[in-house]
Amino acid sequence: MNELTPRQIEELSSLLPSDRFSTGQSNRELHIRDISCHIGKLPSAIVWPVSTEEVAGIMKWAYQNDIPVTPWGAGTSTEGNPVPSLGGIVMDLTLMNRILEIRPLDLQADVEPGVLRKELNRQTGVHGLFFPPDPGADATIGGMIANNASGVQTVKYGATKDYVMRLTVVLPNGQVIHTGCLAPKSSSGYDLTRLFVGSEGTLGIVTGATLRLTGIPSHHLAAIVRFPDLESASRAVAVLIAAGVGPAALELLPPGLIRLMNREKDLGLSELPSLFCEFHAISSNALVETADLARELCEDCGATEFVSATEERERKELWRARHEAWETIHRAHPQMDTLIVDAAVPISKYPDMVVFSQQTVDQAGVIGYVFGHAGDGNLHVVLAGDPANPSEWSKLEAVNHTIVEKAVKLGGTCTGEHGVGIGKRKFMQLEHGDSLELMRQIKNLIDPKGLMNPGKIFM
Ligand SMILES: Cc1cc2nc3c(=O)[nH]c(=O)nc-3n(C[C@H](O)[C@H](O)[C@H](O)COP(=O)(O)OP(=O)(O)OC[C@H]3O[C@@H](n4cnc5c(N)ncnc54)[C@H](O)[C@@H]3O)c2cc1C
Repeated sequence: MNELTPRQIEELSSLLPSDRFSTGQSNRELHIRDISCHIGKLPSAIVWPVSTEEVAGIMKWAYQNDIPVTPWGAGTSTEGNPVPSLGGIVMDLTLMNRILEIRPLDLQADVEPGVLRKELNRQTGVHGLFFPPDPGADATIGGMIANNASGVQTVKYGATKDYVMRLTVVLPNGQVIHTGCLAPKSSSGYDLTRLFVGSEGTLGIVTGATLRLTGIPSHHLAAIVRFPDLESASRAVAVLIAAGVGPAALELLPPGLIRLMNREKDLGLSELPSLFCEFHAISSNALVETADLARELCEDCGATEFVSATEERERKELWRARHEAWETIHRAHPQMDTLIVDAAVPISKYPDMVVFSQQTVDQAGVIGYVFGHAGDGNLHVVLAGDPANPSEWSKLEAVNHTIVEKAVKLGGTCTGEHGVGIGKRKFMQLEHGDSLELMRQIKNLIDPKGLMNPGKIFM
């Protein structure tokens, strides 16, 4: 049913110019894998629409023909989110990449889904504005909306869901709807915008969005704080946040990962448990006062060193190294694949979670790097191993399971930012219990034939 017949290929191809439709093997192979170990089924065709009308036409046709459709952004997901589990059609949205309007006085931008985050920030930067959610990758806005992506600055600025005001969505049957409004606030009915944010392309295709922007801070300072152990470093996190110093980034890094960064980028950093921090302020005086308070609080928690990166070059280098952590781990273990834990817990439980995760990795005797967006209670454990070696890979799966179970027990979640995709589906019942059934009913209401990005979120 998911393989298109020659007649269907012909019909579908007539909906688009020939240079935006492909059944070529290499194009199809380029769309079966994100950065995870989950590999999809080869789709029959790839389409590159350029307008809401084209998307609607393709969706209507696919619905009438019972063909699954999987949306694709930059393909940088970590859980198989854009992988075509059942084949069918992959809809690549990267050619819908226009920034339609920037309204500086309203702090808003209207964009198409294929706009890349960095390009958006280049253009809004001219107006002194930026779109803060920042996954390390140069993701598309559509992919970020679908995964509710966040990143190192979420501790101060929030996640993608906090920046989406209005959406245009093509539903599985081809119907076009508009959600939200341009007012800074609204209490009008169910929040359909937020329903589509984080739905991972399982409810429809986002073809347009109005995003909220915010002012670029005038003064910033990065700092590295070193601690004798991971536990005291993670204890300082809740203290810094409770004291209201308002860090713009607060990242936990273990010695093992800093060692890899040093080796690769020659950073010369001390290989000790560390917090990479950033502070933003409206004046240099305010910045110095904030950094001084942060230093005192960290020292109270046992910090042995607080080093400020005052040079812009140093600051950028530090954050580039942090953003590339996953690639650095991959390059250090070239024959291996990775499994990424993305649990998040209440901030007070973060130290327990960090210690527990490190112990679990050590006891299992696997390769694992425990780090994360500490300010959001978000913990990544990147586990490396060989998927072709079942006993090795099952150990990684067991570690993943044990850590997620602990996070859920502490009131947390199996995924703080990467989404469920294929990899985290097995934890949805554990985390959501009875409300998972309501999610299923919503999915069935909007996508009764189960054609939109099948095999994701639900088992
Ligand atoms: C090195 C690295 C670091 C990362 N760090 C972070 C991080 O710190 N925080 C974080 O949140 N993520 C992180 N990620 C994961 C990833 O970058 C984000 O999840 C990102 O939002 C994915 O965007 P994308 O454009 O690549 O989307 P894709 O991976 O192509 O797709 C993501 C999902 O969106 C759906 N989709 C895509 N476009 C649309 C659309 N127009 N309408 C409906 N559905 C659509 C897809 O079907 C899929 O389910 C990282 C990835 C890498 C490689």
